[in-house]
Amino acid sequence: MFVESPQHVESYYARTLPAAAPVRPALQEDCDADVLIVGAGFSGLHTALRLALAGKRVVVVEASRVAWAASGRNGGQALLGWSCDMGPLEHSLGVERARELWDSMRWAAREVRELSQRHGFDIDYRPGSLWAAVKRNRVALLAEARDEAAQKWGYDALRVIPQQDMPDWIGSPRYRAALYDPEAGHLNPLKLALGIAAAIERAGGRIFERTRVLKWRETPSGFIANTPDGSIRADTLVLACNAYIDRLDSELARRVLPVGTYQVATAPLDPALASELLPRNSCVIDNQFVPDYFRLSPDHRLLFGGACTYLGGIPKDIRAAIRPSLERAFPQLRGVEFEHAWGGHIDISIRRTPDVGHARGRYWLQGFSGHGVLPTLAAARAVSDAILGDTRLLSHYEAIHNPRFPGGDALAAPLEALGKFWYRLRDVV
Ligand SMILES: Cc1cc2nc3c(=O)[nH]c(=O)nc-3n(C[C@H](O)[C@H](O)[C@H](O)COP(=O)(O)OP(=O)(O)OC[C@H]3O[C@@H](n4cnc5c(N)ncnc54)[C@H](O)[C@@H]3O)c2cc1C
Repeated sequence: MFVESPQHVESYYARTLPAAAPVRPALQEDCDADVLIVGAGFSGLHTALRLALAGKRVVVVEASRVAWAASGRNGGQALLGWSCDMGPLEHSLGVERARELWDSMRWAAREVRELSQRHGFDIDYRPGSLWAAVKRNRVALLAEARDEAAQKWGYDALRVIPQQDMPDWIGSPRYRAALYDPEAGHLNPLKLALGIAAAIERAGGRIFERTRVLKWRETPSGFIANTPDGSIRADTLVLACNAYIDRLDSELARRVLPVGTYQVATAPLDPALASELLPRNSCVIDNQFVPDYFRLSPDHRLLFGGACTYLGGIPKDIRAAIRPSLERAFPQLRGVEFEHAWGGHIDISIRRTPDVGHARGRYWLQGFSGHGVLPTLAAARAVSDAILGDTRLLSHYEAIHNPRFPGGDALAAPLEALGKFWYRLRDVV
């Protein structure tokens, strides 16, 4: 499934890149590092920056370009929480330790804003997210989530928007009520990743692009990783490969399933129409089992995504696949031009729980299950802290059991597809 490409995919985000965005060299030597990080998505980049700032000699190796995969293609919704919600974390950790993870998520929401200011780059950040109810019987979930967040996790910022106020938030009759989170927000993920990459280099870290790690092995003094034209010796190895781990570590690969997901960006809308769709410029995800998510870009495009494909990769005609959902949410956009359409892969774990841990000097971050903008940063903090000697947060992640998918690749995808079909049915009945 790994198709290396020397360019970012054609997306709204790639279009926002400055013409002179740096192309980093491929590795063509043997080199030495304290920490080798494989994968330059958010997981690898956040880990690398924290370690480089702490004085470690860091090398990041990326098969394609910085943020070529999910981190440079996502919906840009910086939402607090994990794909699995807090239930499975509380079950594995108990309330007190789960609350420490929740606090680290709030830290990540602050940190993502402050990082860009601290290191002097722009990420088009806009505050505010809505979790919106489509079905009458899911409206009550909003107040339940608000109350649980306040009582269990000490988070009392959430506010329920009742039906009569919804036109002030979303210009669509589809949504009956919503939960507003002022600490969440939305951003341009590719700008974020490239800003972090530049900060890593300023802190002395090295990043090689178009360099795939073919294999790695343990040695008495650490690890050796081989790439087509060079090798890296490192004391510590961090694998941050998301859905592309398959050829590099078969054990990690068994715990995540690559799933395709995709979105579109309309042509720029009339600013008055754009602010009629989302008057307060919050990002939105609905609370259906298979959710739609959308937001506005600074140049008044609607970015809209939602569906997943388990068996066939990304559909050939993404525009046709998304149009019915977008027009169902916003009938006033019937026939609107889609200027960009693109897809990417997410790494679903069986319980949607994060899979973050370590064994004998090798660390990994994966299993973000389609919700990774803030969770990757929270997990990178746990991993970088552990490498620097503070293992407390990492030990929480390691207490979460992530089973293998049953039956290997052949069975896992059809089982997931069947599960998703069941959830889709529950969305319509
Ligand atoms: C279409 C889409 C929409 C999404 N929307 C949202 C959203 O709105 N909000 C949210 O929170 N999350 C969203 N996500 C999920 C989020 O983007 C991911 O969880 C997150 O970016 C994962 O970051 P990562 O660094 O773990 O993985 P990635 O960004 O996928 O990075 C992994 C990198 O590792 C590299 N790599 C792999 N193997 C090797 C190797 N052998 N050698 C060298 N390099 C290698 C790859 O080339 C890749 O660049 C979305 C994802 C997609 C695809």
